[in-house]
Amino acid sequence: MQCIDSFLPVDDETSCPICGMPVGIREVCGRCIDEKNLFEEGLYGFYYKDRLRDAIHAFKFSGRKDVGRYLVRLAEKKIAAFSAKFDSIIPLPVTEKRLRERGFNQSFILAEEISRMTGKPVHHSTLRKIKETKDQYALSKNERRKNIRGAFSLTDTVNLKGERVLLVDDLYTTGQTSREATRVLYRGKVASVVFFALARTP
Ligand SMILES: [Zn+2]
Repeated sequence: MQCIDSFLPVDDETSCPICGMPVGIREVCGRCIDEKNLFEEGLYGFYYKDRLRDAIHAFKFSGRKDVGRYLVRLAEKKIAAFSAKFDSIIPLPVTEKRLRERGFNQSFILAEEISRMTGKPVHHSTLRKIKETKDQYALSKNERRKNIRGAFSLTDTVNLKGERVLLVDDLYTTGQTSREATRVLYRGKVASVVFFALARTP
């Protein structure tokens, strides 16, 4: 890939430490102050625009897993600096139906790459998505909340009690999905949840 220079990294010094929104300084933004079910801290690779958006599309919709792995490696320094904050990694799941259609879950690929970098284990099937949801961006705030509510459940294959978990997704947009997953993880008595997304909306 030749267009790395056009990928705009999220600047950690000038963005909200939770949602990554650019606010000029490192301070929790007004929106995060008002939100429930927040993870404790968020790490974001790039802004979701231009070539980076094309690359994520190739990864998700054309099965280019190599592109996904490559994009995570571009954020390796950030991830290494963040790795003291979690013990294990949980990818945001898709439903089994979606998994069959697409053949893979993009968050699994990202989680496995982060595991290779940090040596932390991935819990592949602890968090499950049990309800198909509509695309969040097309919905109002209330509809989004309803849409995602009850979408996730925990299996009892792994005891998460006391664990510090890194939740992983490819893209952060409204945050509803990651917050709902965080709520379910806290119900599983995790000690803390931090979050990584390869990209966030600008
Ligand atoms: Zn925020």
